[in-house]
Amino acid sequence: MAKILVLGGGFGGVVAAERLARELDEQHQITMVSRSRNFVFYPGLVRLAFGKASRADVSFDLRETMLSRKVNFIEAEVARIDPEQRKVIIAHGEVEGNLVYDYLIFALGRRLATEKISGFFEHSHHLLNVDKALKFGQAVAAFNRGHAVIGQCEGARLPVPVFETAFALARLLDEQGKREYAKITVISPDPPGPMFGDPGISAALQSAFRTHGIRYIADFSTTEITPGAIMTRTGLELNFNLLMMVPPFAGSSAASPLGSNHDGYLSVDSTMRVVDADRVYAAGDCVNFSGPKLGHMAVRQAEVAAANLVAEINGREPVAHYSHEMRTVIDEGSEDSVYFHKDIWTNEAADVKQGRFWSWAKRVQEKYWESTHL
Ligand SMILES: Cc1cc2nc3c(=O)[nH]c(=O)nc-3n(C[C@H](O)[C@H](O)[C@H](O)COP(=O)(O)OP(=O)(O)OC[C@H]3O[C@@H](n4cnc5c(N)ncnc54)[C@H](O)[C@@H]3O)c2cc1C
Repeated sequence: MAKILVLGGGFGGVVAAERLARELDEQHQITMVSRSRNFVFYPGLVRLAFGKASRADVSFDLRETMLSRKVNFIEAEVARIDPEQRKVIIAHGEVEGNLVYDYLIFALGRRLATEKISGFFEHSHHLLNVDKALKFGQAVAAFNRGHAVIGQCEGARLPVPVFETAFALARLLDEQGKREYAKITVISPDPPGPMFGDPGISAALQSAFRTHGIRYIADFSTTEITPGAIMTRTGLELNFNLLMMVPPFAGSSAASPLGSNHDGYLSVDSTMRVVDADRVYAAGDCVNFSGPKLGHMAVRQAEVAAANLVAEINGREPVAHYSHEMRTVIDEGSEDSVYFHKDIWTNEAADVKQGRFWSWAKRVQEKYWESTHL
């Protein structure tokens, strides 16, 4: 019998635990450890902020779901891993002390490194959890005129909700007859040139920006935020009346004993095995792959990690390999919604599609996830 710990109850952890439960004999013991019993469907948080979804639409109770799939669930905070002793040290929660494992799947996502930007915590909204998204929604409701700045800091690696927020704000102001009193600017630390490194994706997004009168500024690396202004190291400065920024990301601090890099991300190979640790796999935002961090990547990485872990337990060679692709919808709310698919490792031109269908498809995907995983 093997004891398998799955750390994290997000996209990566849920998919890995489900696949392990499906493919392993019942003699093996699978336990998920997560700091909260709630699964958060992050792609729904922009809709939550704009009053188009409720708290219940974007967060679901995990414990019952996991138990129904024969996965134990422990609500607890992971402090660190001891790979030599094969144990996980719990800081606090439903259990105390250590949990031992034979095999581990690390899926603790990323940490928000707001401390890297002076004034971020005090003066910027973000929407990276349910409460913050609702608080940003209140600020949106109170915004009548002036300059709205929406963007991401260097290291944020999450452009999708930035663009969706700018489009949602433009639509809302239009509906309220206030659009002419407000300027909307999207800022990005990325160098000038095609967005997502692809001319096709860039053209589709630029066209949507033009439709909504949204200005896009590249090469804006935020270093400081004051009550009404956002600044870069090179002296650029924008005044704002409403600010929503995605803060810098870093890997989970619990990952450091597993040999994480300077930003705290874990090095894995294409089988999703952690390079410097035995019997440890990782999936999701916690791994050290280039480009944006997206939920569908976490899902595919978790499938690969679980398939290879099952093979390892059964004494077989790895059976699955991950290839790094972006496949996402940027929901503009109507016919300017953009779908694209791009292979990051080969860097071939993206497959880009635009139309109202993709806005609808993104919502259907949310419902599909809910009905199949929870
Ligand atoms: C606002 C927003 C919009 C997004 N939109 C899209 C989109 O449209 N399309 C897309 O593909 N992706 C989108 N993403 C990205 C996507 O949500 C992430 O890539 C995905 O959630 C990563 O999954 P994960 O399992 O790696 O991490 P997470 O979903 O973050 O899960 C990590 C889990 O670990 C737990 N945890 C963390 N630290 C500890 C600890 N120390 N102890 C115990 N438990 C811990 C957390 O509670 C959580 O359960 C969006 C993200 C956000 C924030």
